[in-house]
Amino acid sequence: MFHRSIIDRVDRRSFLLAPAAAAAALPALAQTGTRGIKPLKVTGCRIYIVTIDGRYPILVQLLTDQGVTGAGDAAVAYGTGAASAAAMIKELVEQFVVGKDPFGIEAIWSDMYDHTFWAKGGGTIIFAGISAIEQALWDIKGKCLGVPVYEMLGGKMRDKVRVYANGWSFRCVKPADYAREAERVVKDGYTALKLYPLAVPQGDTEGHIEHVALRSIDGDREQRAIATVKAVRDSIGPKVDLMLDMSAELTTDAIIRIGRKLEEWNIAFLEEPVDPSDVEALKKVSEHVNIPIATGERLYTRYGFRRVMEMHAADILQPDIGNTGGIMEAKKIAAMAETYSMRIQPHNCSSPVCTAASLQLDATIANFYIQELYPYRVPEHFAIVDHAPELDIKSSYMPIPSRPGLGVELVEGRVRRFLWGTV
Ligand SMILES: [Mg+2]
Repeated sequence: MFHRSIIDRVDRRSFLLAPAAAAAALPALAQTGTRGIKPLKVTGCRIYIVTIDGRYPILVQLLTDQGVTGAGDAAVAYGTGAASAAAMIKELVEQFVVGKDPFGIEAIWSDMYDHTFWAKGGGTIIFAGISAIEQALWDIKGKCLGVPVYEMLGGKMRDKVRVYANGWSFRCVKPADYAREAERVVKDGYTALKLYPLAVPQGDTEGHIEHVALRSIDGDREQRAIATVKAVRDSIGPKVDLMLDMSAELTTDAIIRIGRKLEEWNIAFLEEPVDPSDVEALKKVSEHVNIPIATGERLYTRYGFRRVMEMHAADILQPDIGNTGGIMEAKKIAAMAETYSMRIQPHNCSSPVCTAASLQLDATIANFYIQELYPYRVPEHFAIVDHAPELDIKSSYMPIPSRPGLGVELVEGRVRRFLWGTV
């Protein structure tokens, strides 16, 4: 077992004995340190850009002096920035992580936040790098202690989480295409699905979509968007949750006009109706459109979400565990959101490592709503880990894994060819 060398050094009685006996064993534990484990040090990392079928999760595998490794995912798996995120991880590991005790997750996080200079007020790449490292540290700590990460976050509140399917619509052109594919998703057992009514396929073999340019569309495209939503609702029936992602494509007036037309189709949420940085515009949309508003995949850390909460500019927050700052940062965002009566729907666009990290959070937050997933990616995408959580989805629910750490292990034979660099 990957963590056996460490566990064998632990006073195993503390894990295996009844509570009273374990308490009696505590003085003995104290003699070997409060954790009863020989301290570890991070010695370096491997960084992979896992390019499969036109997407490219950036993975880090932290290495330690005791052989335990931890995996993390910098979730910028599409768009521009993969090489930048890989380089960011390299610099962060070199400057802030090598030589450190991987159990000191908050200390390392704060060191990166305080002393990279650019993290304060920073954006996607720096927080994708920090997130990947943070996930990998949790993975190491969980493996060493023999517990899933959720046990260190307060324990799980649920055994499985509801998921919705995304990515199934990327090759659709006409409303009838969307209706047919949506029907297939529902037949596969999903009770919630999302589409991008304003986007069009790029026409490439890898199923990329093109978002609106220059903040405007013509009347035909607007009509097609409305007709698409109607066709999908008609095909899936009234009970399936239907989410719409507008990808911050239009101006406030246009999205309010279109949003009002979409109200009659019982939409679960309208995602990124306007630029995520324009909190006032988000607030205006939420006041004029009778559909819950969602945002957050392009907001970073507690600081990035704070004004959205204070202004009640959205109903559903979507931090990405792979770019908002990591598992604990997302947990803090969720706790803040709870006090503003908002739900959490973790954004998830990357590899099964990010899905596994998301599940650790999902298990432990009271205001969890639903988890985003791309279940229709090619089999190679899921095969980079020994057992992708996505493989266990049944009837739109995904079980919380019980294995130590994040619950997934990179398959070296499958990721080796994607090695980008090492520290
Ligand atoms: Mg989105």
